[in-house]
Amino acid sequence: MLLAGFTSAVLAQARDAPRLAKEYAEAVEAVNRAHADKPAARDEDELGKKLPANAAKCVAELTKVEDSPAAREALATAAKAALELDRTEDFEPLRARLAAFAPGPAKELGIVLSRPRFLAIGTNGVEPEGLAAIADVLDLVLDGYAERFGFTAFSKVAGKKLRLRVHLEQKITRPPHFAPQFPWHSEIDFPVVDARAFRSPTADGKFLFYGLCHELGHVIAMWGDRQNEEDRHAWAHYTGVVLVEHLAQTRKDHPAMQELRDVRWRSLEFERKQLAAKKVVPGPKDADTVFARFLALHDAVGAKAIGEALNALDAAGKHLLENRVRYYAMRDFEAELLSSKAGRAKKKDIEAAFAGG
Ligand SMILES: [Zn+2]
Repeated sequence: MLLAGFTSAVLAQARDAPRLAKEYAEAVEAVNRAHADKPAARDEDELGKKLPANAAKCVAELTKVEDSPAAREALATAAKAALELDRTEDFEPLRARLAAFAPGPAKELGIVLSRPRFLAIGTNGVEPEGLAAIADVLDLVLDGYAERFGFTAFSKVAGKKLRLRVHLEQKITRPPHFAPQFPWHSEIDFPVVDARAFRSPTADGKFLFYGLCHELGHVIAMWGDRQNEEDRHAWAHYTGVVLVEHLAQTRKDHPAMQELRDVRWRSLEFERKQLAAKKVVPGPKDADTVFARFLALHDAVGAKAIGEALNALDAAGKHLLENRVRYYAMRDFEAELLSSKAGRAKKKDIEAAFAGG
């Protein structure tokens, strides 16, 4: 036994830590690339199992490396790569080894919580109970999107989990945002001010619950293209308030909802009054008029039919893909709605909602 331990320690040094980390990260990348080119795995658990055995062995060797600056860097590199494939079983021992040498860099990697539809990563001091509190709400939000709109695909690459990157801040200076740049998954950047709980709005009036609902809207659909945001940012606002209102009504007694009060200021009802007071009519030109368009469509055919139309465009490949992010055209959306069963009965209302361009 002693000899075996000695041999593996020598082995780990002989095949240096940076090389092990590189081999592992490249294997993760290759699995992700192959899947993105031709999605075969049903979900990320299945995908994670496609990692070759020799790559998984790198983790075992890395967790035995001796401390050195290069070893620390290699452990961090491999741990980050593990999250690209939701391999928490690799992430945890790599992080633990790094923590034994250097608590600071290990803390920088953060903590993770893997759920069937997403991977939540908490950094900068987010505690496990705080991360779990947000994850519980995100699960409700995802359920709500499925219930209201029929949306169930929440990452740009089918079968990949959504990522939620939660970071603790003294003060929130940038609201949550959809980060479209990652190649294999969709990610939401999510600042919080409380390490152990999730309350919204925050004491200084940041609507984090609504923000989470809103960002999911961006993940599901972008409009026009990168130069011309056809929805004038109204789509995510529309789906965001629909979701806040829906969960406030249907999950009132759910433990995860007890500290969330956004519905007082973020709801369809609230927006309806605002638009009526301002006498906004549906149109294409700004956030208010496009919001009024979505609201008119919502009232005509309902959220489900709106969701079905987008899902149909998606299935038909009628969208633009920019770095795999889905961009839809209003014109296609209108045509799809008009040809749907719900839409055929409301032709006039739909045409009125799209009037003006
Ligand atoms: Zn937004």
